[in-house]
Amino acid sequence: MTAAISKAISTEPIPLVDLKAQYAAIRAQVDAAVQQVLDSTQFIMGPQVAAFEEAFADYCGVAHCVGVGSGTAALELALRALKIGPGDEVITVAHTFIATAETISAVGATPVFVDIDPQAYTLDPDALAAAIGPATRAVIPVHLYGQPADMTRINAVAKAHGLAVIEDAAQAHAATWQGRRTGGLADVACFSFYPGKNLGAYGDAGAVTTPRADIAERVRLLRNHGRRSKYVHDERGFGHRLDTLQAAVLSAKLPYLDEWTAARRRLARRYTEALAGHEVTLPHVAPGADPVWHLYVIRSAARDVLVDGLNRQRIGAGVHYPLPLHLQPAYADLGYKPGALPVTEAVAASCLSLPLYPEMGEARLLRVAEAVASLLEERVGV
Ligand SMILES: *Cc1c(COP(=O)(O)O)cnc(C)c1O
Repeated sequence: MTAAISKAISTEPIPLVDLKAQYAAIRAQVDAAVQQVLDSTQFIMGPQVAAFEEAFADYCGVAHCVGVGSGTAALELALRALKIGPGDEVITVAHTFIATAETISAVGATPVFVDIDPQAYTLDPDALAAAIGPATRAVIPVHLYGQPADMTRINAVAKAHGLAVIEDAAQAHAATWQGRRTGGLADVACFSFYPGKNLGAYGDAGAVTTPRADIAERVRLLRNHGRRSKYVHDERGFGHRLDTLQAAVLSAKLPYLDEWTAARRRLARRYTEALAGHEVTLPHVAPGADPVWHLYVIRSAARDVLVDGLNRQRIGAGVHYPLPLHLQPAYADLGYKPGALPVTEAVAASCLSLPLYPEMGEARLLRVAEAVASLLEERVGV
């Protein structure tokens, strides 16, 4: 690297994710795909939607993919396809983005929050077993930060109790559990293509994948106003279709996902090497898991000092997530008290996400790692 570049990196802002760098690298392919839709004017359910669905199902190694309007729509339609509604309980984690639980509420069911594994930060299978009651119908493990949940044990517990399993794979495109990709590890899986996700559209988009033809068929019906033909509505559905322009963007980007995932894995390894020996808890990779590092999350007792210090140096550190769902004002009516989920609460109080995106490069990463190290040393010195 030249001195000039290295000097630029030593002062420029480093965002948590940089969507501009990625677009610059694939501009020709994306622009051509978008132009094709504009020229065809088939903005609703154009052929690009089915083409992407087929490509993404193949990619995940699962029989069916149904494109929908967002990750949130994917979760809601998966729950509705399973006929989960009022009077039902769905077990999930509180350490996640709120859409995981909001959609359970949206269908009229009740979320039951359980604790996470202290190392993997994903749903604790023992906590799942302990929370099952007569109204429990399903469980939603979240592959948080791109780390697949322990699907072997979760599926075993679910099977023993007749529960449906819904993967929240919004952060885990291409992650594998025991060699198999997310999206095909349970009854049904939900993906988000929110722009900052590992595979991101240029607007809202999502997908439901499933090995089950019955679920795929119901999601297809529900996403498009319950209709099989133009003027006949078999049931009351929703306007949750995948936009044609977004499908075109996603198909243009999908061929790069393996390369981007490999870059994320290399960068995560470099963070782990660079931060080893410092007073922080580094990510733990469970045996059987091959994560895709949607986020690189460390823990520190000095979390707030670190986030402030990094942000002051224009390094985009974030917190995912500072206030767990069971303690959110939106869920006050469920009556959870602080202390109800001790592992979740401890992680929420100490976690921080460091910048990580495929185009980041080693020089930026080392600047972040050095900034973390020196902030920790300053603190020890005080
Ligand atoms: C992003 C996300 C969602 C929601 O996806 P949208 O496309 O934003 O609706 C759901 N669950 C998790 C874990 C997410 O990260």
